[in-house]
Amino acid sequence: MEHVIFVPAIYHIGDVSQLGSLFSFIDSRITIKGKKIILYLYTNSQVKDKDINYLKTLPVSQIVICENKLFSGWELPYIDAITQHINIIKPHAVISISSDFIKSILARVAARFSCGFAVDCTDIIFDESTYKYSFLKPAYAGNINAEILVKNSSIVFATLKIKNADECSFETIDNKVEVINTLIENIEPFAVKVIEKNLAHDIDNKLESAKIVIGVGRGIKDKENLKYAFELANILNAAVGVTRPLVDMGWVDKEYQIGQSGKIISPQIYFAFGISGAAHHVCGIGSPKLIIAVNKNRDAQIFKIAHYGIVADATHALKSFVKIFKSKVKGC
Ligand SMILES: Cc1cc2nc3c(=O)[nH]c(=O)nc-3n(C[C@H](O)[C@H](O)[C@H](O)COP(=O)(O)OP(=O)(O)OC[C@H]3O[C@@H](n4cnc5c(N)ncnc54)[C@H](O)[C@@H]3O)c2cc1C
Repeated sequence: MEHVIFVPAIYHIGDVSQLGSLFSFIDSRITIKGKKIILYLYTNSQVKDKDINYLKTLPVSQIVICENKLFSGWELPYIDAITQHINIIKPHAVISISSDFIKSILARVAARFSCGFAVDCTDIIFDESTYKYSFLKPAYAGNINAEILVKNSSIVFATLKIKNADECSFETIDNKVEVINTLIENIEPFAVKVIEKNLAHDIDNKLESAKIVIGVGRGIKDKENLKYAFELANILNAAVGVTRPLVDMGWVDKEYQIGQSGKIISPQIYFAFGISGAAHHVCGIGSPKLIIAVNKNRDAQIFKIAHYGIVADATHALKSFVKIFKSKVKGC
């Protein structure tokens, strides 16, 4: 019996690298014979040749690029297109990468099919004898893994929070890539009128795949001081990640947030500058080989998991690290 898994994805700024991890993960978890994984990539611009060449290597049965000028920052065209494609493909499961935008789309698609939707899962359990899915998802600040069952659902919808793209491996194949012009039916073209576009700058932080992450918390005191974190990240070829309060205060985009309601990362080295070490944050940092924490409170929770703890002012320490690593890197 054929078991069809449909993966809708959105082509963003030419970055398709996370799809490799997703497919490698799905492939390792759903090993049933007759499995068919179908990728539809939605875009309003031409997909770059280098990305097409990468897509061709993925362990999937079919790759379709769906082009339409309406695919932008507005959900409805995607919702209509994905609904249409589900009606054609008739998948057993719809699985995608966890991003706020795709979650917002798939929640509404799932509702159209009266199906359940499991979001931000970290693992899939597939029972080959019953064809039933369940998912694991961190709960209670990452202290337990809750098992999520999608009951009485003709199609299972889920998004996965996957880790480092470098960790995945799959046998590369040479797939064909089909490009279709997606017609979107029944769309009300004037349901949303674009008055002004304020584009957030493209974030090229690679938080999920970074080997070194400079974590910054409220102890940094001032938005201005974040520049030292970026400077250090630049020297060490690292990424910057923050705690939730910094996002809530509007200091940085949510793309930088690490933790239960942010990104799950897996660096080898994690710096924590002015971070308390709350479970909601720490559950997102993976298991780094080295944690270096700076906090002015010697009893801070973060010191319980840090390999090296420095009782000091976070900004002062950041500036010193910049100075030291700058001279070290120069000296190499
Ligand atoms: C449902 C839910 C989901 C959540 N999800 C997330 C999440 O995804 N990610 C996340 O990060 N949080 C999340 N939180 C919030 C989380 O519980 C913590 O409140 C948050 O992580 C604390 O951030 P912080 O350590 O930067 O700030 P604080 O708790 O305010 O800690 C600041 C730290 O800086 C130290 N400090 C102060 N001044 C200095 C200085 N001058 N130099 C050095 N150190 C200094 C303090 O001693 C303190 O330890 C969530 C909360 C809830 C309820």
